[in-house]
Order: sequence, then structure tokens, then C-alpha cells
Amino acid sequence: MNKVNITEYLTIDLQKEMWCCSRCNAELISAKEPYYKGCLVYDRPGTEVYGPPIKIAKGQQVSYAPDPRFNHILEFYCPQCGIMVEVQYLPPGHPIPVDIAVDLDGMKKRYLSGDNFSSTPPSPQRGKGKGGI
Ligand SMILES: [Zn+2]
Repeated sequence: MNKVNITEYLTIDLQKEMWCCSRCNAELISAKEPYYKGCLVYDRPGTEVYGPPIKIAKGQQVSYAPDPRFNHILEFYCPQCGIMVEVQYLPPGHPIPVDIAVDLDGMKKRYLSGDNFSSTPPSPQRGKGKGGI
């Protein structure tokens, strides 16, 4: 396998240059595209996540859910196994930000050139910078 872990539920297959689900290995979309374009999206109402408004006094209630006029909760799911990949809170109509941009050629050079392929990135070295242990 030539897959590199990117997040808990996302991997990149460097040979195929595809975003993949790390749970079910489904190929989501080309790694040259933002991964969320290969996911199912659910624009979830805030009251589903935070519950209905709570009555605090006669005629008064409070809600912990974001106001849908100002904030939407977008959940991204793997289309094959249904695992939640990402959640973003965005104003209505706001384009979905690209939160992960990878250097695909650099990753291929780094991970596919050697015979000691590891799917996990190297751990940070301690004591190298200022204030290190
Ligand atoms: Zn999956």
C-alpha cells in the first residue's frame, strides 16, 4: 500500500493520487482536488446538534444552536461507509475553504523513492529549537 495518513479518516494513495477513506479505503476524489468534493455533505440544522431551545422563564427561551441566518453546520461523510470526515461551521453561501493542501509531488518523492516506506510522518525532533527540552 502506498497510502499516507493525512487526518484520522483521510489518506492519500500516492500511486493513484487519490484521496481515500482510511476506514473503508474508498477512493473519494483526485488528490489534486479538495477532499470534500468527494464526500457527501449534510447541511445539518443547529437544533439537531445542540438540541431544541430551552425554556428558561415564562415566554423566554434560550438556544445554544447557532443562528441559521448566520451559521450553517456542514458535515462531510465518506460516501461508502458513512464515517464523518470533517465538520465546518460556515456562514450561509460562504465557499467551503480548502483546509488541506498537499505537495503531492513532494510527498511522492519523499515516500515513494525509498524502500523504507512509512505511512506515518516522522515525529518531531525534540530539543532542536528554542525552548526545547
Ligand atoms: Zn469510508
